Amino acid sequence: MQVPAAFQYEKATSLDHAIELLTQYGPEARVVAGGHSLLPMMKLRLAQPEALIDINALDELALIRVDGHELAVGAMVRHAELLASPVVGEHFPILRDAERVIADPLVRNRGTVGGSLCQADPSEDLSAAFSALRATLVAQGPGGRRSIAIREFFLGPYETALDEAELLVEIRVPIRSHASAYRKVERRVGDWAVVAAGAVLEISGGVITEAGIGLTAVGARRFVAEQAEDFLRGGRPDDEAFAEAGRIASQECRPTADQRGPVDYKRHLAGELTTRALRTAAARAQGQEA
Ligand SMILES: Cc1cc2nc3c(=O)[nH]c(=O)nc-3n(C[C@H](O)[C@H](O)[C@H](O)COP(=O)(O)OP(=O)(O)OC[C@H]3O[C@@H](n4cnc5c(N)ncnc54)[C@H](O)[C@@H]3O)c2cc1C
Repeated sequence: MQVPAAFQYEKATSLDHAIELLTQYGPEARVVAGGHSLLPMMKLRLAQPEALIDINALDELALIRVDGHELAVGAMVRHAELLASPVVGEHFPILRDAERVIADPLVRNRGTVGGSLCQADPSEDLSAAFSALRATLVAQGPGGRRSIAIREFFLGPYETALDEAELLVEIRVPIRSHASAYRKVERRVGDWAVVAAGAVLEISGGVITEAGIGLTAVGARRFVAEQAEDFLRGGRPDDEAFAEAGRIASQECRPTADQRGPVDYKRHLAGELTTRALRTAAARAQGQEA
């Protein structure tokens, strides 16, 4: 039987209260959002927090809204809500694509966007998608609020730039006229990625003015393929460029062999999925594909 070690349970009633509780209990306290990553780790005793701070009552963290020229996604927004959001579907098809292939409805109904990012699992789909989008993460702690560029947020597997008593509050992404897509290969429906790639393109006057490429499950530094992005910027959005960007991305990542496949297979997939995501993003820019 898998039974977690004993812990204190506290239900936060406001954001300030959650931060107070985190400060009071110190480094051995953890917040619990959907619990889909934390509770299995506790049952296996891979995590043994002395106190769980439940943030499920914090409705202010559960909103998706447009704020000026930015989409703001509260940390407690569930995967299913992100998937169902019309504004997300319209402006950020990469997020809609990614959410369609994250786990199953049970997990998507409970797991949160903030929990996904804070878990910093090297195979997390939203970490790659929001990194391709160059999102900004808003954290709040005893010292107030601060913004962290997502590409500065992931310090390593399961490690983020959040301080001990800080909470992730919101994820912000500028709404631009960019096109995007996410492509994933999994062993069976609802499984974690063997490899997945996300692409974001901004195109002006037939030239790529900005590119974002996110990769997951292949050891890409901070979930992105920066050399492939550099190659694309300033070039034309055509098949030849996308094939070359895929080749560069496949060389940039550092996959490891495991039950999901050998290194060469994963490297091949990283390149192929990058190319396909770029092609789809470009087609969407021209209104050819939804
Ligand atoms: C069977 C199964 C299949 C899955 N398949 C996939 C998949 O295919 N792709 C994928 O990307 N994910 C997958 N997941 C992961 C899932 O989608 C969520 O990403 C995961 O459950 C984390 O979200 P949560 O809200 O449950 O976080 P929790 O488990 O509650 O928390 C995770 C960690 O983040 C911390 N945390 C949570 N919220 C905050 C916050 N606001 N501020 C600071 N720290 C915070 C917690 O303290 C904890 O350390 C799967 C999960 C399961 C159980």
